[in-house]
Amino acid sequence: MTSTTAGSCLCGTVQFQISGEFEAFFLCHCKRCRKDTGSAHAANLFSATAKLNWVSGQDSVRTYRVPETRHEKSFCVKCGSALPGVQSVGILAVPAGSLDGAIDIRPNAHICISSRAEWDEHLENIPKLDGLPG
Ligand SMILES: [Zn+2]
Ligand SMILES: [Zn+2]
Repeated sequence: MTSTTAGSCLCGTVQFQISGEFEAFFLCHCKRCRKDTGSAHAANLFSATAKLNWVSGQDSVRTYRVPETRHEKSFCVKCGSALPGVQSVGILAVPAGSLDGAIDIRPNAHICISSRAEWDEHLENIPKLDGLPG
């Protein structure tokens, strides 16, 4: 049996389904991933075998590739949300935050940790709030 996971962008224009299994899940702290996400790290799932099906909004998906690198980012032109894409090397990359359904894979590793932001240290030790700061 093949598992199917649904996902979408922030504005809801783009909806997709991933059919199949993910082989890897990496949290990448490299400078490109930090720029790309605006955050401490990217959180991407990878699969060489899973299939990506666009349910809606495929014409609103754009892919930017950093010249002369393998770094690619697919996103919704209306809201800028990160979206899945098949990389030039043929591997499907899926931003974990774009998924709406639960997944049963846990991150395999933090990668490019030597490139992390200077504030990205011992983040597990800072206060955790259930909601917004009061
Ligand atoms: Zn959108
Ligand atoms: Zn990276």
